Amino acid sequence: MQKVVAGVTVELVQGDITAQKDIGAVVNAANSQLRPGGGVAGAIHRAAGPELEEEGVPLAPIKPGEAVITKGYNLPNSHVIHCLGPVFGADKPEDKLLADCYKNALALAEEHNLQSIAFPAISTGAFGYPIEEAAEIALKTVLEKVKTLRNVNLVRFVLFSEKDLKVHEKVLSRL
Ligand code: ADP
Repeated sequence: MQKVVAGVTVELVQGDITAQKDIGAVVNAANSQLRPGGGVAGAIHRAAGPELEEEGVPLAPIKPGEAVITKGYNLPNSHVIHCLGPVFGADKPEDKLLADCYKNALALAEEHNLQSIAFPAISTGAFGYPIEEAAEIALKTVLEKVKTLRNVNLVRFVLFSEKDLKVHEKVLSRL
């Protein structure tokens, strides 16, 4: 599913964040230490190789809502933007912190003259954010922010499961 807003394509696909060959920057659902870990972070570090951790660790720790950028190494993408999402029920206010992740990631992509960015569903795995609420925040934030973008013309959400894709499609068709 796609929506074009202010000249920017916002699209939803089911897939793996490490297999987005046509995208400039992929977003990592990072941990504060910018170490591999599980879920998205594990997959991104495995695919990128050890240099990603070498570049990332000196940039750590990052706080919930913050984002930092590194190169993509063996990934098909020139850059990785590492966002620390809020832990649901612990980092407050979680809706603002989750929106900050998307805003800060888009700002970094803009600064680095990137034309495309792909997000996983930040905080919805190990960090426990309910997928419906997270989808609403993510999509609302991106649809608002795209109006200010000059370089980025494609924002892709890469959802791991069919259910997560369906939830995002329902929210995007309503917004
Ligand atoms: P967080 O710690 O921010 O919750 P996770 O990596 O645990 O991050 O999960 C975030 C979301 O990414 C979850 O919905 C999970 O199903 C999904 N996910 C896990 N691996 C991948 C992958 N390789 N590509 C895309 N999404 C993934």
